[in-house]
Amino acid sequence: MATTDHVDVLIVGAGLSGVGAACHLRRNCPEKTYAVLEARGAIGGTWDLFRYPGIRSDSDMFTLGYSFRPWTNPKAIADGPAIREYVRETAREYGVTEHIRFHHRVVRAEWDSTTARWTVHAHRTDTGEDVRLTCSFLHTCAGYYRYDEGYTPDLPGADRFTGRIVHPQHWPDDLDHAGKRIVVIGSGATAVTLVPALAEQAAHVTMLQRSPTYVMALPSRDVVAGALRRVLPERAVYPLVRWKNVLLATANFQLSRRAPTLVKRLLRRAARGRLPVGYDVDRHFSPRYDPWDQRLCVVPDGDLFAAIRRGRASIVTDTIETVTETGVRLASGEQLAADVIVTATGLNLLALGDTVLTVDGEDVDPAATVAYKGMMLSGVPNFAMTIGYTNASWTLKADLVATYVCRLLAHLDRTGQQVVTPLPPPDGDLHPIIDLTAGYVLRSVDALPRQGARAPWRLYQNYPRDVLLMRYGRLTDQGVRFSRAGTPERSTVRA
Ligand SMILES: Cc1cc2nc3c(=O)[nH]c(=O)nc-3n(C[C@H](O)[C@H](O)[C@H](O)COP(=O)(O)OP(=O)(O)OC[C@H]3O[C@@H](n4cnc5c(N)ncnc54)[C@H](O)[C@@H]3O)c2cc1C
Repeated sequence: MATTDHVDVLIVGAGLSGVGAACHLRRNCPEKTYAVLEARGAIGGTWDLFRYPGIRSDSDMFTLGYSFRPWTNPKAIADGPAIREYVRETAREYGVTEHIRFHHRVVRAEWDSTTARWTVHAHRTDTGEDVRLTCSFLHTCAGYYRYDEGYTPDLPGADRFTGRIVHPQHWPDDLDHAGKRIVVIGSGATAVTLVPALAEQAAHVTMLQRSPTYVMALPSRDVVAGALRRVLPERAVYPLVRWKNVLLATANFQLSRRAPTLVKRLLRRAARGRLPVGYDVDRHFSPRYDPWDQRLCVVPDGDLFAAIRRGRASIVTDTIETVTETGVRLASGEQLAADVIVTATGLNLLALGDTVLTVDGEDVDPAATVAYKGMMLSGVPNFAMTIGYTNASWTLKADLVATYVCRLLAHLDRTGQQVVTPLPPPDGDLHPIIDLTAGYVLRSVDALPRQGARAPWRLYQNYPRDVLLMRYGRLTDQGVRFSRAGTPERSTVRA
């Protein structure tokens, strides 16, 4: 076991959120010492891991970019390598890179109330060594899904298939898809990204979905940003376009929740306008659920619709009876011939990067905790986690969480206290933390923390409201207790 070092703040994960959290510390609490522990050997998280053809954002970079560092690339819907480079450059510019300890997988963190410190255990994935650090505040930015394995449902007959079956989370370097017949199983963001990208060189791409998803075309370049850039400096353009996009996305979400029939009709009409005459829009693009019961898929410049129009790609809505030696047989009896099958069937959700937390010797069951302001857990002192929005860009929330952590640290210093512990809501009215009905959410939501029925325990998924709550709202409210080191936490009821 290596010797123990101590830092004021320990950040877990060097993805978009962890790098952002470190930059906020650097900007707002420059006197605090910190380290970032990253399990992999690279910066960027999701944007370094996913390498499938066409990998891109599906939200605009004016809101997926950091509040403090303008996105200057003309493409608002950006490709994966450009986002990875943006995160890396940000880390370099803010001096974060040298604080990252790569190949350190955090496995356990133990809070001790008498010393008001976390002891964090990490396993070195390069040397096999176990490392121990202590910190006063632990901030987990470990994303929300398993890195080692994407989700693949049981595909009957898959072992007979003579071609290749690949998952987008582990795209093989040696896969040449040119001239191949490809079946992409899935209907989410990854499937709608992959299909037009593969269709550029493949013989044909079929997107095979059990049920449709709402798909909306958006311009890949922001015309307002383009116009403003001609007359204003980048520093002025970025916040203006960021707020324009926040307000448009918030209005879109609110309208979808209040007038779902109208929004369904608008989405259907927009899709029909981009598809060939006589195309069965209802079968392939009209889900049974309401918009935003599941995430809406964005396609830049309507690339998916264009691939269908040109005959390079098609959509089949059916269920798989079995995979055969040469493709897929469907419940309707139709056969889809394939050289490659891509299982764009999703992720396995994972809370807190699989880190076991203990408080004064007792294990914390995340499912028995309640999220406070969507970023701390009841009964878990000096701990924050970054989980982004499900209906808007992840970074909007990540920036607010990082700012709030800095506010909390400053408040503790100012008041001569060392410990901040969220409390569960007194009314005990609890709900799932994610209110989407997508399969990947329903599969895992019971293992995640819950939320309360009202603020500060309720996630409203509303950025303007969260700006008021987290950037300007009171730090001392009924949901949190500040104290000095030495007060045991054992008495705190978690949920
Ligand atoms: C294909 C894809 C496309 C997406 N597109 C968008 C989009 O357009 N807009 C949007 O808002 N969101 C999108 N998302 C969600 C996306 O994950 C977030 O935008 C963002 O990248 C999350 O950043 P993060 O740093 O919180 O997590 P991640 O990117 O997952 O990074 C987490 C980091 O933590 C490390 N880590 C995890 N556990 C541990 C541990 N125990 N110890 C040490 N290190 C650990 C990981 O190795 C990783 O580097 C997308 C997700 C996927 C999978």
